[in-house]
Amino acid sequence: MAFDLNSLLRPHIASLKPYTSARDEYTGKEGIFLDANENPLGSATDEDFNRYPDPYQWEIKKRLSKIKNVRPEQIFLGNGSDEAIDLLFRAFCNPGKDNVILLPPTYGMYEVSASINDVATKKVSLTEDFQLDPEKVLQQVDEHTKIIFICSPNNPSGNKIDRDSIYQILDQFNALVVIDEAYIDFNDEPSFTQDLDIYPNLLVMQTLSKAWGLASLRLGMAFASEELIRILNRIKPPYNISGLTQEFVLKALQNEKKVKSMIQTILQEKERLENELEKLDFVQKVYPSHANFFLVKVPQATEFYNQLINHKIIVRNRSKVQLCEDCLRITIGTKDENEALIEAMNKVSKEIAVQK
Ligand SMILES: *Cc1c(COP(=O)(O)O)cnc(C)c1O
Repeated sequence: MAFDLNSLLRPHIASLKPYTSARDEYTGKEGIFLDANENPLGSATDEDFNRYPDPYQWEIKKRLSKIKNVRPEQIFLGNGSDEAIDLLFRAFCNPGKDNVILLPPTYGMYEVSASINDVATKKVSLTEDFQLDPEKVLQQVDEHTKIIFICSPNNPSGNKIDRDSIYQILDQFNALVVIDEAYIDFNDEPSFTQDLDIYPNLLVMQTLSKAWGLASLRLGMAFASEELIRILNRIKPPYNISGLTQEFVLKALQNEKKVKSMIQTILQEKERLENELEKLDFVQKVYPSHANFFLVKVPQATEFYNQLINHKIIVRNRSKVQLCEDCLRITIGTKDENEALIEAMNKVSKEIAVQK
């Protein structure tokens, strides 16, 4: 059976007549703009924000297309990666009928978005070393399975997923495969965007929230076939990326050098922190990471987590998550922050020992 995007679409989306905004109908830059009921005088702020922004963010996409080596038409930009995830559910998954496959332990938003959209999830646990088992995953596929979500490097485990097993899924699954590469900038693994022209069922997600340091601006990227991107564009809110975000992102994209240098600094710190963590005798395991965080196994993780907060160190308690029993997820901080972390961990381990 060949892949056919249109037959995957929910029927009412296939026949949807999208909203056309003022900025859709006239795209020129010259003229007197009396078409969008904007305030012609300016804004309540010192800087002017009175005009609606470009609904398709072409300036950003042109620049990104050079950085990411894809065509501008293969890019969708969302208000965070969450928006692309939600739009995929809305476009392809019939509530109460279709399902998606998740590979826990993984990023929580896939499941939340599925629940919001009343879409069932089939869960195929990763292996003990957080790899995916393609056969087990493919066995779970049925006629209503619309999306398989793969996160690589995976959150919260930090490892990258074996490429061959991802290709097996891409080759053998006839609906959509989403590869979430939120942490790709922290390792030298090539992006799956290089395979977009081979796999029409592939959608790759990345974000400016991590390595680019722009979490507050909210900019998530999705890369896919032009056909799939057109579908997302048809159903997105017309002005989903604010003018302010577009302006700052465009500036940020000129600063690739700064990003590369920040990544180098974080990776140096990561190596140092890993050594420090390995030295702590109460730390039971530091899982291999290709991201900007470590999954770390400690005794009595929840108690440990709470005590760290008393020392004003906030990490993520993942100890209730499948395959992550007694694990904390720790983001690489600055040198000073990491030193404070190690010092607090030493104190907490003594405090917990005394309580026993
Ligand atoms: C942080 C993260 C994202 C990014 O989400 P944004 O909404 O773009 O900030 C996406 N996927 C995973 C797995 C993440 O950990």
